[in-house]
Amino acid sequence: MFLTKAKDIILDILFPPLCLNCQKHLQNKNKFICDNCLITVKFNNTLFCPICRARLADNKRICHYDSQYLLAAAGNYDDLVLQNLIHYFKYKSFKNLAPILGEILIKYLSNLSLSMVKSQKSVVVPVPLHPRRERQRGFNQAKLIAEIVAKTFALELFVNMKRIKNNKPQAKLKDSEMRIKNMAGCFKIENPEQIRDKNILLVDDVFTSGATMNEAVKILKANGAKRIIALVIAKA
Ligand SMILES: [Zn+2]
Ligand SMILES: [Zn+2]
Repeated sequence: MFLTKAKDIILDILFPPLCLNCQKHLQNKNKFICDNCLITVKFNNTLFCPICRARLADNKRICHYDSQYLLAAAGNYDDLVLQNLIHYFKYKSFKNLAPILGEILIKYLSNLSLSMVKSQKSVVVPVPLHPRRERQRGFNQAKLIAEIVAKTFALELFVNMKRIKNNKPQAKLKDSEMRIKNMAGCFKIENPEQIRDKNILLVDDVFTSGATMNEAVKILKANGAKRIIALVIAKA
């Protein structure tokens, strides 16, 4: 106990805890980001059309009626604080950022007051990583935040959507046609009876071209899912 404390103190002197956004010294080293930075994050207050990104006030469709799902994005990717948080979480394996990012989703969702979130018939589904990629990173970032959402709203978590293709990271493909091709046939569903006739909250960290979500939605629908809302921390 004493030794661990001593080690912590020495580590703090050598590597003082700094806000990952503004680099100022942090009082609470478990927070990673200072309150001044966190407070600047701008929250959205509507759902969005995943095709044209129109804001959907009252959680209702106003366009693209053929879209298979609606998009729920807590913030926008041009928000530099959010961008930084997601970058450290995903690419620098700051696993402990999950509670902060989970909190952002919960704050946004609570404000939207979606009926789907209140219904016990809804299921939370994280977008899976290929097992090899998950091993490299040490965790699936979407699953960590999906767990927090499921727990907070007392919803079931479904982790039987699997990634069967270890395709290139979408971020490395600029062309939207290549992104669609890259994702085709990427997922499979085990134990589909657990999602049949259920409403789905499909969770990922970011929404850029939408190719990943579209493919996940396609297979969830093919396996009997009812309404689907794709939930992300930030949309591009
Ligand atoms: Zn800061
Ligand atoms: Zn639209």
